[in-house]
Formats: sequence, structure tokens, C-alpha cells
Amino acid sequence: MNAFLLERFHNFFGPGPDPLAVRAPGRVNLIGEHTDYHGLPVLPMAIGREIRLLFRPRADGVVRIASANGFPARQFRVSREIAPFEQGDWGNYAKAAAQALACEYGHLAGMDALVWGDIPPAAGLSSSSALVVAFALALAGAARAADLPVLTSGHADVGVNYEDGAWDLHVHAEDLGLEYEPDGVVLQVGAEALTQVPTNAAFSFLGDAGAPIWVLPAVENHDLLFLGLGTEELAPGIFSNDTVTLSLKSVTGPGDFVLYTLDMFGNPVVSMNSRDGIDASDSRVLTAGGHTHVNWVFTAPGQYRIGLQASGVLAATGETNTSEVAEYLFEVQYAPILSVTRKDAATLTLQWLSREHHEYHLQSSSDLVNGPWSAHPDVDAVEGTGEFMTLAVPVEPGPRFFRLEIYEEAHHHHPD
Ligand SMILES: [Zn+2]
Repeated sequence: MNAFLLERFHNFFGPGPDPLAVRAPGRVNLIGEHTDYHGLPVLPMAIGREIRLLFRPRADGVVRIASANGFPARQFRVSREIAPFEQGDWGNYAKAAAQALACEYGHLAGMDALVWGDIPPAAGLSSSSALVVAFALALAGAARAADLPVLTSGHADVGVNYEDGAWDLHVHAEDLGLEYEPDGVVLQVGAEALTQVPTNAAFSFLGDAGAPIWVLPAVENHDLLFLGLGTEELAPGIFSNDTVTLSLKSVTGPGDFVLYTLDMFGNPVVSMNSRDGIDASDSRVLTAGGHTHVNWVFTAPGQYRIGLQASGVLAATGETNTSEVAEYLFEVQYAPILSVTRKDAATLTLQWLSREHHEYHLQSSSDLVNGPWSAHPDVDAVEGTGEFMTLAVPVEPGPRFFRLEIYEEAHHHHPD
């Protein structure tokens, strides 16, 4: 690693572990200037000039970039929608890479990065492409290096505390006896969490009856994370009425987020719901010294950042005190689990959650281990819709096993 750049890195970002490094070369097109994004042949060649980038991962999702070529330092936070700097600002190349990766892979670590390059700009040598590629490589490397722990099952709570004049929002993994920063751990919503919006109209706040939803339930299911809201550490007497309010401030992810409980009659009580927007009503009152479990609902698989904020009226001063927004990371998993929803003398109804751009072929066999597996003669292949799909299959004598063969349609890439 270049000693000069290493020294500059430490000057900019302070002491700590040595940074990692990536490089991306400039290029020329031997054949095919402006033909690539029309789907026509192109033959590029890397050149000996390049962008070098030294980086150190950050756990908080903040990206700080400094330039060894004299461009001004820039800072932003990784998300799926990053507002650009002014047009022409060099920081937009980092934002473009960060936003694209966040859309594709969800939560990313942040990084401190020092950039140096010797590709002349605006000379047809793809200096800006090299910059975007270098940022993307570094952000991917930072995410891998940060390697956040994942909670997949067991008892955990979103902990809310206020001590010595400061809020402390965190995740408490009860079974492990560990405490994490809100965005220092991934809360997994396993594929087994998939269910459907009940037909009961009282649950229409979750979506259309039958629509897929993923629920971490308020009642313990050993296959899933058992996630609650914990205020045990919050001492009595600090806040008036010994209550604090936990409010939903933001939802970043592929779907919506709902938090609800059931009252003693089994009627839903909705605390937070991003389906109708987010406002002051998206909140839940928590009691000091308390602990409660709730239903955490997501409407699509993928990665989410859920922003929560605590506030309360200080008993001593009568003033409202509000925490920073803490972002919690959720990962909602999808798996094409085939289930039997109905069986009568003549037919068996099989159901699974399909995805768009996927084709499903049902196969059956009388021997789960040895096969052979064959397509059912009466059941055609079906195109996924993103909804639950059902297939009615004639009942045959003897044991019968079913599986889905899934084909993903070829992706067609279009230039932006
Ligand atoms: Zn709990």
C-alpha cells in the first residue's frame, strides 16, 4: 500500500486499524464507442491509470470520503434513496454506488474512504466509471468486513432506557446476554414467518385478505425470533406517569411495516403502520420497568431499516425529551415453501408464494429419496405473479411427494 496515501488516510480519519484498499482502472474502447448501451458489441481495454481507494468500515452506515486530489470532503448516510449533492459534485459518484448497492442488498456498513486518482477527467478514459466502480467495490468490502451479527431465533427485545440524562435505544438479546447498537445487529424475519392477511375485516389494516405478510409474532414460535419491547432498565420517577412513547419515524425497505397487538378479546390494536403514511399516531406508549411482546409485520421480503424514536415528559422539569432516531435492521426472508391447504377425496390443493419472473413446474414422486420425479400430466407450468398461487392436483393412491421446479426468466439489461 502506498505509504503516502496511508499517511494521508490516518491524517484525515485518525488512528485505528489500517485501511483496506481497492483500485479501478480507466479504460479505452478499442471498438464500439457509445455502442455498449445500445446492446451492440464493444471491446474495452484497461489502461495503466486508475482510481485508488483506501477505506475502513464503519458500523453506523455513514460514508465519509476525502480526496487526495484536493476535492472537498463529503459525508452522507447509506440508504435506498440518497438525495444527491449538487449537480457535478464528485460525492455523487459515491452516492450512486451506495444507493445501487443498498437497493440490491439492503443494509450496508458505512466507511471512511480516501480517494486518489490519476485518470484525466473528461478525456474519454472513463474516470467517472472508475470512481463509481471503486466506491462500489469498497462499500461491498466494507459490508463484508463489518459482518454484522444476525439474530435468527430466541428471545430479544428492542430496549429503551434513559439514564444520566441520555437516551439509550438498543437491542437486547436475552438468551445470549448481549446488547447491540440498533443498527449493529440484523433482526432476521425467517421464511417461516410468512403467512396471509386474515379474511376477517378487522385485519384489513394489514392489506388485502390473502396477501402475503411476514410476522414475527407476539407469541413465541421457536422457529422465529421472539422480539419484544423492553423498558425494564428504565427507572421509575424519571418520566411523568412513568411512561415513554416509542414512535415510528421512518421505514426504508421493499414493503411496509406494521406493529400491532391483540387486546384481551382478540381485537387488533395497531400501534404503527406505514401503509397509510407515518405520522404522530404511529407510536406506542411503554411503561417504565415494563416488558411486552408485539407482532412485527412486513409486507415484502428483503432488507428494512426501521427508524424508531423515544420521547417522554421529564417529571422533574415537565419538559418533553426526545431521543435521536435509532435505525433497526430487519432482514425478511423468502423461501418457496409448498403447503397443502385443502384435501378432499379427489383433489389436493397445494399453495406457495410465487414471485414475478419465475416459472413453476410441479413434479411428483412416490419416493421422496430416490424419485423418479415427473411432471404431473394434468398440471401445467405456471408463471409467478408475486401472489399466493394454488394448484389442484388429483389424488392418487399410495404416498405422494411434491416439489416445485423453479425457473428464473433471463434478465434483460437496459442502459439507464
Ligand atoms: Zn422480551
